[in-house]
Amino acid sequence: MYTSLVSHCLFPLHERLKGHTTVALRKAMEASQWWDGAQLDQLRLERLQALLRDVGEQVPYYHRLFAEIGFDPAGVQSLNDLQRLPFLDKALIRAHTEDLKHRGAEGLARFNTGGSSGQPLVFFIGKRRVSHDVAAKWRATRWWGVDIGDPEIVVWGSPIELGAQDRLRRWRDRLLRTDLLPAFEMSDAKLDGFIAAIRHKRPRMLFGYPSALTHIALHAEKRGIAMDDLGIKVAFVTSERLYDEQRATIARVFGCRVANGYGGRDAGFIAHECPEGGMHLTAEDILLELVDAQGQPVPAGQAGEIVVTHLATRDFPFIRYRTGDVAVLDDKRCACGRGLPVLREIQGRSTDFVTAANGTVMHGLALIYIIRDLSGVEAFKVVQESLTHTRVLLVPGPGFDPACKAQIVAGFQRRLGGEVQVDVDCVDTIPPEKSGKFRYIVSHVGASQPVANAS
Ligand SMILES: [Zn+2]
Repeated sequence: MYTSLVSHCLFPLHERLKGHTTVALRKAMEASQWWDGAQLDQLRLERLQALLRDVGEQVPYYHRLFAEIGFDPAGVQSLNDLQRLPFLDKALIRAHTEDLKHRGAEGLARFNTGGSSGQPLVFFIGKRRVSHDVAAKWRATRWWGVDIGDPEIVVWGSPIELGAQDRLRRWRDRLLRTDLLPAFEMSDAKLDGFIAAIRHKRPRMLFGYPSALTHIALHAEKRGIAMDDLGIKVAFVTSERLYDEQRATIARVFGCRVANGYGGRDAGFIAHECPEGGMHLTAEDILLELVDAQGQPVPAGQAGEIVVTHLATRDFPFIRYRTGDVAVLDDKRCACGRGLPVLREIQGRSTDFVTAANGTVMHGLALIYIIRDLSGVEAFKVVQESLTHTRVLLVPGPGFDPACKAQIVAGFQRRLGGEVQVDVDCVDTIPPEKSGKFRYIVSHVGASQPVANAS
């Protein structure tokens, strides 16, 4: 009853107050998800044409670019015509942040992200896009027989979320029956507290990093505390690669299904798993290309870098945006019958845990956030060599202040312990891992990788 009240009345009201059109979008997307490929492509083509016309007139960066390369949005006849435009990447966004804003942009909010390569990026999200991203997430939630308003436990690490102590936020969380557990610190005492909180809440759904939920699950198992009697239906995981052992552990301990999601603040809500196991693209909003190292499209069934065009981003466009992540597109239709294309495999996302000198395990993001907001840092990588030694590789860019090295050392020592030696080295480039993946946190402290070592 309460879920229905929230889902049908309170949340829609909340969204309307914030100027979002989420409810209508979600309903439309629940219809279009059953369309066939041709019907979906027609919708996407119309939206692409509208987006390109709009940004060509109202976004200074694209106005100039279209003139330079002689691109006429009116000539766009198929989705492939998009390939005539150059890629957008983090360096371009950094260099043209102001020029990427639409002249009539509505409700732009500033965000930043570390990205999979550890390159800090500041960008903006308009109201229209928020509505689309929330609607896409809402739709995927409902695939699993749960809804906004069902009791939920969120295990998350972002200080942006945690710091938002404003009253609207608290009101919203209470209304939506969402409890937030901070994933930064994973000491035994904290884990005991998380387990108690989950048992007390008896949530219908969990949401969090796969590594964090796995960590909690393994701790409950170690303590001999049952978690599969709470009525949890599904655990939504995102932001990291989901390993098979993690899926099995979460499912076993919490007695629920695990639903993987892929996306980011920057690229948007790209894909979400359905109960039949298909990783469905949010095809109404997202055009996805897979390209090789030279930027050429890869043949079907082959792995390529994910390039995303988000069709609801006219206020601050993401058009042919290189994510740095790698995926394979499936050519088969999902057994659930939805026409949304399916991603077979997503690689290239990883965030490890790090361990403080006193043994406290914490999410790698706890360190990343210290570096992320410093200006003039092009890219970075954190390598925890041992409990008492951590190295930071920095690629300095314009506006880099060498004094911020001391800030990093102090910040890291606050998290990891005062006795930890923190070396900050400036380098020209940061090479990828042997696997080809970029990781911004690597920990060589065995105890901090209970998950990765299990594979
Ligand atoms: Zn499906």
